[in-house]
Amino acid sequence: MASIGFIGLGNMGNPMAANLVKAGHQVTGFDLAASSLETAKENGVELASSVTETVAGKDAVITMLPAGHHVLSVYDDVLEEADTGTLFIDCSTIDVASARTVHEKSATAGMLSVDAPVSGGVGGAEAGTLTFMAGGGDEAFAKAQPILEAMAGRIVHCGEAGAGQAAKICNNMILGISMIGVGEAFALAEKLGLSHQALFDVASTSSGQCWSINTYCPVPGPVPTSPANNGYKPGFAVDLMLKDLKLSQEAAQSNGAITPLGAQATQLYSLFSAMGNGGMDFSGIIEFMRGKEQ
Ligand code: NAD
Repeated sequence: MASIGFIGLGNMGNPMAANLVKAGHQVTGFDLAASSLETAKENGVELASSVTETVAGKDAVITMLPAGHHVLSVYDDVLEEADTGTLFIDCSTIDVASARTVHEKSATAGMLSVDAPVSGGVGGAEAGTLTFMAGGGDEAFAKAQPILEAMAGRIVHCGEAGAGQAAKICNNMILGISMIGVGEAFALAEKLGLSHQALFDVASTSSGQCWSINTYCPVPGPVPTSPANNGYKPGFAVDLMLKDLKLSQEAAQSNGAITPLGAQATQLYSLFSAMGNGGMDFSGIIEFMRGKEQ
């Protein structure tokens, strides 16, 4: 079992750290928020009083922070404090350029590193069924795998440094675009007098099928577990989808990729969020197509 430092004990980090404790790892954690620390303590995480105290003498350090600048700043603070050869795993969703910089800084300091963003949300973090998309060298990935297993349903080694973040934003760009497409189709069906169930029965078993309709249908009824049945309570909030779409567009611009639908999806989610819907589940974008932006 490993000795693990965990920095960033928020909505995702706390249940992830709890699963590491349950698996028998010795976990020391730190967060800037007192309420997060309290929950972590209840979950059996030993508390550190600073980020630097979190990393000393550890086999691995996991970060689960809001954005690239938080991760870069924490790494700048802690890399010198960790034992040479410590494995650094960043599970935050951040821009690919920052993720690559984090790997470079880690290598310069003599550390092993993996970028390992997740999908599966808070529910997946609590259940220990997250999908990890990992980027980094083979040695680092081999060391990360048994640690990630305590929190994972699935782990995919996507390639070298930054490949995990690249996979995450490409996947979520598909999701953002496809949810808008499915929302448009249901909004059109409503105008045509076609029932939700009829469109679902046809599209979910023919060429319109995709996760956004089959598993997360944005109208109530056909998929009882989808947020549409619960007033679009998240689930995966509009603002988190917007964050990932913005990361996809930053990456597209800096690497010369042509993503017109990704750009359009980013604009629509931006507008929908600015209308006060940032906390709604992202499938609620169908309300925009219905002209009911709230
Ligand atoms: P969150 O805001 O709940 O947690 C982030 C935590 O980081 C906070 O508790 C904050 O106090 C802490 N923090 C910030 N700066 C710090 C520092 N310098 N030192 C120590 N702690 C610091 O966010 P979250 O929902 O847990 O998401 C974390 C990451 O996971 C994000 O990158 C997010 O995009 C990604 N993610 C979230 C979800 C989700 O459903 N919430 C799903 C997939 C991926």
